[in-house]
Amino acid sequence: MKRNLLLTPGPTQVPPQLCEALGRPIIHHRTPQFQTYLKEAVEGLKYVLKTKNDVYLLASSGTGAMEASVCSLLSPGDKVIVADSGKFGERWIELCKAYGADVQVIKVPWGKSVLPADIKKLLDADKSIKAVFVTLCETSTGVTADIEGIGRVVKETPAVLVVDAVSGVGVTDLQTDQWSVDVVASASHKGLMLPPGVAFVAVSPKAEALMQKSTAPKYYFDLKKYKKAAAQTDTPFTPAIGIVIALVESLKMVRETGIDHLLKKYERLAKGTRAAAQALGLSLLADPSCISNAVTAMTLPAGVDGEKLAKIMRDTHGISVAGGQDQLKGKIIRIAHMGVIDEYDILTGISCLEKVLKEMGYSFTLGAGVAAAQKAFNS
Ligand code: PMP
Repeated sequence: MKRNLLLTPGPTQVPPQLCEALGRPIIHHRTPQFQTYLKEAVEGLKYVLKTKNDVYLLASSGTGAMEASVCSLLSPGDKVIVADSGKFGERWIELCKAYGADVQVIKVPWGKSVLPADIKKLLDADKSIKAVFVTLCETSTGVTADIEGIGRVVKETPAVLVVDAVSGVGVTDLQTDQWSVDVVASASHKGLMLPPGVAFVAVSPKAEALMQKSTAPKYYFDLKKYKKAAAQTDTPFTPAIGIVIALVESLKMVRETGIDHLLKKYERLAKGTRAAAQALGLSLLADPSCISNAVTAMTLPAGVDGEKLAKIMRDTHGISVAGGQDQLKGKIIRIAHMGVIDEYDILTGISCLEKVLKEMGYSFTLGAGVAAAQKAFNS
């Protein structure tokens, strides 16, 4: 059987221990046994998110957690700010508009990040702004936002700070309480090494107060229902039972290694990946001031079609990387360093990238990327 190495920014590799947990017989969710899992999952998520806030589990992909945040906090006509640095910033805009919010967008070119000072300017000019929506790791461009700086700005205002951390949790530092993040939306299938199916939302008391006033239409994603159920260690609807059970195991793995130790690992993997790209003459899309440790976006040489490159890597060699989205389709590839993968997975991915680039006619010294990554890993 061919290898199936996922170097994609979600879903990520599921390690054998978690495959075992996912294969366990299903249990009923309205039982003390499931309550024990639910409690442990919530405690583990609080550890990873560095928060004492409530955490609610939903059965959905990451976008469900984003939608739950929007419809549970806002009322039609509410003024909000969205920091748009790529595809997932655009998703915040679309969601906020779908629920009738009055959206002010701060748009930056792909590869850059929105600065706290730009958000401050808008917040200072209008005290009636209810929420600021940002993306921790903009997966489409490989950019990380300065959440700490943005949190410092937003906490001085009546607005709440809502962070899409779908591809950041467990990979990029997020100090929810320390940085005054009011809502974190994320999911199971990236840093937490599981299949898609569980999403979660952490909610601060400041956001909770806004939630109580929200009049946006909602039903399944109404976080008030989740709050009420959580008080009884329960969920309002049938949870993704098997994935919640495996989430407990995943969070144990994270705790055993230690979240800060893991963050260092991703920093090292990112450094190696970037070094490899540069040694191959592939420029990095993200500005160095905001480059992500979760995913590296590299620009391909003219004449090399990124879609074709990714297809050959996947179909011929069993190694999946992501291509570009929208205007970057065919022009970049993205290699993720999140979840269970290690240095040897990255080296395998880089050597495959080199092989296919060579076959596609790009001229460079074979082995240069692998050597640069090795050197960066060991420096
Ligand atoms: N936000 C970010 C930053 C993401 O990377 C993704 C998934 N690529 C999403 C939101 C959407 O998550 P999902 O596809 O699980 O709904």
